[in-house]
Amino acid sequence: MEQLLNYINGKLQAPVGGTFIDNIEPATGKVYAHIPDSDERDVQLATEAAQKAFPHWSALPVGERSRILRRLAGLIEQNLDELAAAESRDNGKPVSLARTVDIPRASSNIDFFATGVVHFSSDAHYMEGTAVNYTLRHPIGVVGCISPWNLPLYLFTWKIAPALATGNCVVAKPSEVTPYTAYLLSKLCMEAGLPAGVLNIVHGLGPKVGAAITEHPEIKAISFTGGTATGAAIAAKAAPMFKKLSLELGGKNPNIIFADCDFEAMLSTTMRSSFANQGQICLCGSRILIERPIYEKFRDAFVEKTKRMKVGNPADPDTRMGALVSESHLEKVLSYVELAKEEGGTVLAGGHRVHLEGELAGGYYMAPTVIEGLPQHCRTNMEEIFGPVVTLLPFDTEEEAVAWANATPYGLSATLWTQDLTRAHRVAHQLESGIVWINCWLLRDLRTPFGGMKQSGVGREGGFEAMRFFTEPKNVCVKIS
Ligand code: NAD
Repeated sequence: MEQLLNYINGKLQAPVGGTFIDNIEPATGKVYAHIPDSDERDVQLATEAAQKAFPHWSALPVGERSRILRRLAGLIEQNLDELAAAESRDNGKPVSLARTVDIPRASSNIDFFATGVVHFSSDAHYMEGTAVNYTLRHPIGVVGCISPWNLPLYLFTWKIAPALATGNCVVAKPSEVTPYTAYLLSKLCMEAGLPAGVLNIVHGLGPKVGAAITEHPEIKAISFTGGTATGAAIAAKAAPMFKKLSLELGGKNPNIIFADCDFEAMLSTTMRSSFANQGQICLCGSRILIERPIYEKFRDAFVEKTKRMKVGNPADPDTRMGALVSESHLEKVLSYVELAKEEGGTVLAGGHRVHLEGELAGGYYMAPTVIEGLPQHCRTNMEEIFGPVVTLLPFDTEEEAVAWANATPYGLSATLWTQDLTRAHRVAHQLESGIVWINCWLLRDLRTPFGGMKQSGVGREGGFEAMRFFTEPKNVCVKIS
């Protein structure tokens, strides 16, 4: 059985402790590879390699760093088929999604920051007749990047690309649940000629490897994407060490549908925003708020479409709904369906595990699920489920919709459907979320600030925001008279 290896100091190597953990294929429920069960000793080796590489990498002309990273982006593109198949197998997502979204985006993340850094500039402040201030932006040094399982290579590259482009060296940890494409990336880094130690990938468990990265005194900043509870644990460790922190956390996003919307466009996009990646995207709209005059029309059309969605083998190019990422996650999502019933909800579609045949009999499949009749403030409507489960809530007034949309502790994204331009702007202004999509969903311009308010995060990724995060500003004041 294949054994994945860490990528440290430019080489693939086994963990110091010599132990490995199982890597399970969600489509079958079977172990198909082993990944390093690394610990603080591997993080130490990775940090030392990154420290050694930093003076050279940070001093390289920006055009040269850009050239190496663009070569890496090109290699991802060239290996699209292999990477997409690997992502689908490791995560359970449909291969069509990995092929059209995850892997192309991983390549464009690297390309975007490799080219963006060439245009990155800093400020100057002129004091009339007295002095000129200019701001230098230095790379921080060695930084840590920790990513989750839902969009494995997509989010891993979203973090490491701005860090590397701005001249930092990185100790990175992909999720232990979906390590495979990060492992394939380490081979592409070698092929691209990335100097040894510039990027180090340490595989293993969060409480061991993730915690060792967070606590390492020589790792000066942490960029983390994952659950809110993990983000809080990381912040508690990192804050007293005065580390820079970027936290992209959970969500419970509202999808607000006004009666005057373009119904067909809204319906097809709402199917995607509810169930894409089996609902395991932090930006999925899991609470659907519908203006009462079209509540029944929407409910009936949406439920009918949901019932027609076929759950299938992720490796089949026609599958649009694959497996959930793990057995424990499937159980967690199913437990929320039971909770919803206890809280008075009615399951209109799905709500149960799906058993496929043959090789796929042990896979973690679930029918897309629609629930109505729940009170707005119940736990099902407040807590992140992160699966193919949405709730429907009718509303009567704009004020009510805004109040309900803002009622959770989260504030990552919101979607809004209306043809009334004035209302669209007015509501967008009042929503407590880092991202608002009007008459669309997941339409991304990589230059825009990305991140959440409240318990959905601290800081923003994307564009110059990310490059500012990974650099330390220094003001230089020159007296001129
Ligand atoms: P998670 O918090 O369990 O794990 C994320 C990463 O942190 C993994 O690599 C894990 O090994 C590591 N980790 C776990 N414990 C750690 C610790 N004590 N110290 C350091 N690292 C540790 O999250 P997950 O289950 O992998 O991902 C799902 C969550 O991620 C959901 O809540 C989802 O909303 C969130 N998410 C947010 C965004 C966003 O942009 N805001 C994007 C994707 C996913």
